[in-house]
Amino acid sequence: MHIEKIQEVKDTLKKHGLRYTACRQDMLLLFKDKREALSHPEIEAILSDDYDRVTLYRTLNSFEESGIIHRVIDDGGAARYATCSGGCETHEHHDNHVHFKCKVCGKVRCLEETEIPTIALSPDYVAEEINLLVLGKCPDCR
Ligand SMILES: [Zn+2]
Ligand SMILES: [Zn+2]
Repeated sequence: MHIEKIQEVKDTLKKHGLRYTACRQDMLLLFKDKREALSHPEIEAILSDDYDRVTLYRTLNSFEESGIIHRVIDDGGAARYATCSGGCETHEHHDNHVHFKCKVCGKVRCLEETEIPTIALSPDYVAEEINLLVLGKCPDCR
């Protein structure tokens, strides 16, 4: 494995106040390689030879809490996770972007450049989280 990549992983963990573990390293490398939102089963399929489910689950949680990854809601209701663009911190996410799901290949990606527009809610409602998933065809499948 590239020493540069490993150093990058160590820097990311340190920046977000997480201790280095082999599982955190491998999961972070996986997210950096894939560049798409991953589900629990997808992560397990790749890393379950080396780590048990509980460890994977805890690692995923620690990443979300510390602002390394954010949750992406899929249209099937299942959660996926994708790496944050960099401005996120512990318990403070700023991922205000649209997500895109390809109806052909099924991949879900962050559209970092596309911000979620302001939504006018009736004053009786308090918004705490806004998710926007656009379905269509990705550049690879058009
Ligand atoms: Zn596609
Ligand atoms: Zn995203």
